[in-house]
Amino acid sequence: MFYTSTRDKTVHVRSAEAITRGISADGGLFLPEEIPQITLSDIDELSKMGYKDRAKKILPLYLTDFTKEEISDCVDGAYADGKFSSEKIAPLYSFGDGVEILELWKGPTCAFKDMALQLLPHLLTTAAKKAAGGKKIVILVATSGDTGKAALEGFRDVPDTKIAVFYPNDGVSPMQKLQMVTQEGGNVAVFALNGNFDDAQNGVKAIFTDKNIADELLKHNMMFSSANSINWGRLVPQIVYYISAYCDMVADGKIKNGDEINIVVPTGNFGNILAAYYAKEMGIPVKKLVCASNANKVLTDFINTGVYDRRREFYVTASPSMDILISSNLERLLFILSDCDDKKVRKDMKELSENGVYDVGESVRKKISDLFVAGFCDDVGTKATIKKEFDEKKYLCDTHTAVAVNVYYAYREKTGDKTPTVIASTASPFKFCAAVLDALSPDLSDVSDEFKKTEKLSEITGLECPRQIASLHEKKIRFDKVVDRKDMADEILKALL
Ligand SMILES: *Cc1c(COP(=O)(O)O)cnc(C)c1O
Repeated sequence: MFYTSTRDKTVHVRSAEAITRGISADGGLFLPEEIPQITLSDIDELSKMGYKDRAKKILPLYLTDFTKEEISDCVDGAYADGKFSSEKIAPLYSFGDGVEILELWKGPTCAFKDMALQLLPHLLTTAAKKAAGGKKIVILVATSGDTGKAALEGFRDVPDTKIAVFYPNDGVSPMQKLQMVTQEGGNVAVFALNGNFDDAQNGVKAIFTDKNIADELLKHNMMFSSANSINWGRLVPQIVYYISAYCDMVADGKIKNGDEINIVVPTGNFGNILAAYYAKEMGIPVKKLVCASNANKVLTDFINTGVYDRRREFYVTASPSMDILISSNLERLLFILSDCDDKKVRKDMKELSENGVYDVGESVRKKISDLFVAGFCDDVGTKATIKKEFDEKKYLCDTHTAVAVNVYYAYREKTGDKTPTVIASTASPFKFCAAVLDALSPDLSDVSDEFKKTEKLSEITGLECPRQIASLHEKKIRFDKVVDRKDMADEILKALL
């Protein structure tokens, strides 16, 4: 299996190189040249296995230049006993009405990004041995919250790696900040930046492409790589859990092997739903992929019209991990649906960066609307959904999951489509405690301390706050440095060398 670039079809590399480099030199994203297939009898076989064994069967289809033993070691390291609070790793919760909630937040940081970021460091260090002469990998992250913590936790004390994270000093939630500044591990560094998320992102990009810094690192046998969802190594672990969810439904007798399902995903950068698309194209019988957005509904408009237009107001919402106007992973879908037309992708992406808008044209638009359904839900709808599902079903959703639940039921009502459905649940409700508590009990909004809020939420719902969040206030603050944009590079070198 080889990988090419969305912006240059002549690129032809192995998965180890795609993963180590993160992004192609032409600015495009790496993707496999063909999509491997699984049959119904493969699904039967997978249905009898646990999560780790399923991963060990599925990942080799994409990572053909890794040995079986290497993949097995990576998977065993990522999903080792005790790392995830569910033995099933990504369990289904039966919601009723033929709906299953796929709970992807049982990992160390309580958000779905753990599913990939626990595995990526293992894939990356294995890949670097093959493709980068065993150089030490330095991961740089600009984060608006969830990615930074999940990456820190994934790379913590992984041999031959270092990780540095920048977050905007006033741009993350108090709980997210505390999660990062108390980070443990001998190879980690965390900095607050005077500025917003864009400043952090631009600063990190500038360091990535700075030749002097790269040369300095090379002298110490180090190189940069990316833990961002543009890295194929972050996408491929996500395909596994959609296949696994289908297998669980077959194994539990909820569907017969071969029956169609719908998959609903709360979407930001288009990574998670793209993984569901890959699962469908591999052979999982999927009728519709439902793309759910919050008030930043650039994807809803795109899927419904074929015009991607980022020239619009940006909203800060109760589901901040979906507050995104440029969904990077969409580029991979456009490449596939335009029959690998790299020139067209280059042109559309150039228009997006220069004018903020592009139109994919009728034939691609038609293919998208056959595959996807899109809808959105604002904060009022999000909070109403959290309250309704808790009152009626005693199920507590976080704000991102609530967007998906809301969009799904609106779709079901409009179309009468009662196909069995999997809704991806992307975070623990305790991670976005303030908004969830406000949805259930607006009268408690004067409780200002984050930990009091989690206690209140436990009290009202009878649910236990995950230990990783409840125990944060006992942890020592290790990183209290606030840096200016111009000092980022110096700080990185000081921390690394
Ligand atoms: C990152 C994130 C999302 C969005 O996922 P994408 O892959 O960017 O579409 C949704 N919910 C939560 C909680 C997240 O952390």
